[in-house]
Amino acid sequence: MFFLVLLLRRAVAVELEVTEELNKLLYSVEFTYLSIIREVIEYAIANNITNANKLHELFYSKYRSEYPSLNSQLIIQAIRQASEIAKSFIERKKKGLVDKPCPEVKAVSIRFVESAWNYEEFVKSVAPVRIAISPISTGKRGKGGRRFEVWLRPHKRFWLFWWKILTGEAELASTLILKRKGGKWYAIFVFELKPRVERPQSIIVFDINENTVAVSKIDLLTTVNEVTNWNRQYITPQLYSIRTDFGRLARRYERVRNAIIERLKPDFLLPNGKYINITNTREFRKRVKRLREGDRKIGRVRYVANELTKSPSIIVTEELGENPQESMIDGIEKDELRHRIKQTPFKKLEETVEDKALERGSKLVRVSSYRNSRVCPIHFTRLEGTNDWHTLQCPLGHYVDRDHASVMNMNWKLTPESWTKGVWWNMKNLSKNMNWRKHEGKSNPLVPHEIVKYLHATLKEFTASKESPAVLARGKPMTPAGGADEGWARKPPTPS
Ligand SMILES: [Zn+2]
Repeated sequence: MFFLVLLLRRAVAVELEVTEELNKLLYSVEFTYLSIIREVIEYAIANNITNANKLHELFYSKYRSEYPSLNSQLIIQAIRQASEIAKSFIERKKKGLVDKPCPEVKAVSIRFVESAWNYEEFVKSVAPVRIAISPISTGKRGKGGRRFEVWLRPHKRFWLFWWKILTGEAELASTLILKRKGGKWYAIFVFELKPRVERPQSIIVFDINENTVAVSKIDLLTTVNEVTNWNRQYITPQLYSIRTDFGRLARRYERVRNAIIERLKPDFLLPNGKYINITNTREFRKRVKRLREGDRKIGRVRYVANELTKSPSIIVTEELGENPQESMIDGIEKDELRHRIKQTPFKKLEETVEDKALERGSKLVRVSSYRNSRVCPIHFTRLEGTNDWHTLQCPLGHYVDRDHASVMNMNWKLTPESWTKGVWWNMKNLSKNMNWRKHEGKSNPLVPHEIVKYLHATLKEFTASKESPAVLARGKPMTPAGGADEGWARKPPTPS
């Protein structure tokens, strides 16, 4: 039998109370550690050698003699880290995601493996309040490091995870990471959580757009066997949106960035009357960093992930490619719109949801994005555009909100209907998914059969009910004021 064990990692940083002596020492250890990493990376990239063992062979004794007082374990870890950074850099370069010749390593986290700190003692403690680290060696061969005891400033989050250790829900990784931020030192503990397996309480489908995340939620009955005598209130899918405003955020920051450029221009005037590219200047980067655009975005990503994973669920979303933004902006001329789509963190949001889902006992299922918002989820007819980008019209007369169509169609894709109704598969998809036909009437390989059955029954009921088009439609189409599509809250349709 083959088991795929998924481990979830959570890093928790705890501030250290370092003495002045240790502070100085850590600064110099950090400096050495960083220079080892930089040198090894430079070599690795120039010679295309990224294998950790190979690099160890080449560099270990050199640094051992160069820095005899450094704990030898730190040298080993620095070389490893260099190998990892070089590998991922080359990988990213192959995909065309970087244009620098060599990675710039500015900050570094120092890794203390099990033998370089008091892991064994620490992990047995009921309420640990200090660590002992050995950054420097006293022994001849870098062994027998000198111990420094450091008090921790533990906080609520740390105790929360420590409680999980005590209850056996988590394990502490044996490697401790030390990192400096500003003038302070932090110990970063890595907790490995065991994913929870829980009975799903709902089926949640979400679709990421520029300014919103569209959601459909279907609650599952406590016993799925009750399918025949369900309560009607449970069977109507709830359709709603979570506001993220990624697009608006991007537009606002774009304006602020342009203002910064204008303000800096006079300082960077060349004798020939032209300006140097201000976005490359240190001044510009410093000011942009202060805007903390990334922090605000990540805050919203986490908020959405929390919302979607509150209770254990089957979570469904569309299959995103490697680089979803690129395929979406393909064919879009307007620069500003291209920029906004690029700024929408599709992948990040999906990853965060998946991670949180595992932690809370949910499961993420991906379905093809083919025709998600082009088909009426009630009549399986092709929807027509109206003069409002948000609203589509079914040839049978009713209106459908584009977001609602999209999430409802993803629901359908989990049911046997997706195999019998050909609307969701183009020829390419059909041949790729041919083997799915084998599962027809039996089970979708990704979702438990009784849940598929329940979902199917719910959707059937949904299509039969009179008010369902009203549920799907958000309103009559309107022409946006002056053609300005202010609330343009979704990504453009995928060409089909
Ligand atoms: Zn229809």
